[in-house]
Amino acid sequence: MLDVEALARGVAEGQRAALGRAITLIESNRPDHQERAQELLARLLPRTGKAHRVGVTGVPGVGKSTFLDAMGSLLVEDGRRLAVLAVDPSSTVSGGSILGDKTRMGRLATDPRAFIRPSPSGGSLGGVARKTRETILLCEAAGYDVIFVETVGVGQSEVVVAGMVDCVLLLLLPNAGDELQGIKRGILELVDLIAVNKADGERLGAARKARQQYLSALKFIRPTSPDWRPPVLTVSAQESAGLDDLWQRVLEHRQILEASGELETKRRRQRLEWLRALVEEEVLGAFQRNPRVADLLPDLEGRVVTGEITPTLAATRLLSAAEGD
Ligand code: GDP
Repeated sequence: MLDVEALARGVAEGQRAALGRAITLIESNRPDHQERAQELLARLLPRTGKAHRVGVTGVPGVGKSTFLDAMGSLLVEDGRRLAVLAVDPSSTVSGGSILGDKTRMGRLATDPRAFIRPSPSGGSLGGVARKTRETILLCEAAGYDVIFVETVGVGQSEVVVAGMVDCVLLLLLPNAGDELQGIKRGILELVDLIAVNKADGERLGAARKARQQYLSALKFIRPTSPDWRPPVLTVSAQESAGLDDLWQRVLEHRQILEASGELETKRRRQRLEWLRALVEEEVLGAFQRNPRVADLLPDLEGRVVTGEITPTLAATRLLSAAEGD
């Protein structure tokens, strides 16, 4: 039998083994584990909320893990306690994910001042998001004061990560022309800071030019805050160049949001959206599992596809079937 009180104490004392066990409990889908996990979080909640939460996104190969390793090493040298988490909805138990893989962050992985945890595996994006959000809280309770949440710059996961952090950092490659076309406008609207990575060697010139192009592209984007224009910097994760400056900007962003009260507003909104997303997912799940809905669904979908009935009528029938007893 798991002793939740002892586990909570272990986490609060910053014991890595306890934190690892607590995260495993959070990640378990077993209902009895879920219940204990919520008990654990309830005990630890007063200790949460103090970390600086930073999302790091960018396409595979842009240098996220190299960056996290280099930036993370600087931060721990500076006395910060750092946790690196990942959100990768495509990850599987068999290790399909490369995100958060310790071998990708060689220096940090062996550093006792840093805690690296790969993405929770399997399940929907909503499920992975819930687990990561709760893991952020556990890490905060364990005394980590900077939390990086890494995600791949493709699809919805960026939106989800933006909903759980204070600051979103987008890493880009020096080939601006190609990349701008691939970046969805929506992603730029979520971003608080842009860093053009690999600004070294032969790519230095291209990186500087890319920086200008990204700056111009941002002129047409609504900033994340009225008090903040996302800066575009050039860095080299490989050579640890420009990272001090980048971190200064991350701190500046936080100071501005804190001073205006926006940080608190943002976190309140994030909690509310989290609640709503959980309810939505739960309600939708229950609806889809309903046998009466399952009975009707194939036929109604078929008739909607052929245009025999309207989607509105089909939806009304499904909803009344779900409600009926
Ligand atoms: P991720 O997929 O975004 O995590 O990217 P990685 O960190 O694995 O980096 C992809 C490749 O780019 C690796 O071969 C890195 O060595 C290389 N790389 C990462 N950062 C830099 C950099 O600042 N400069 C150069 N020249 N190469 C880099």
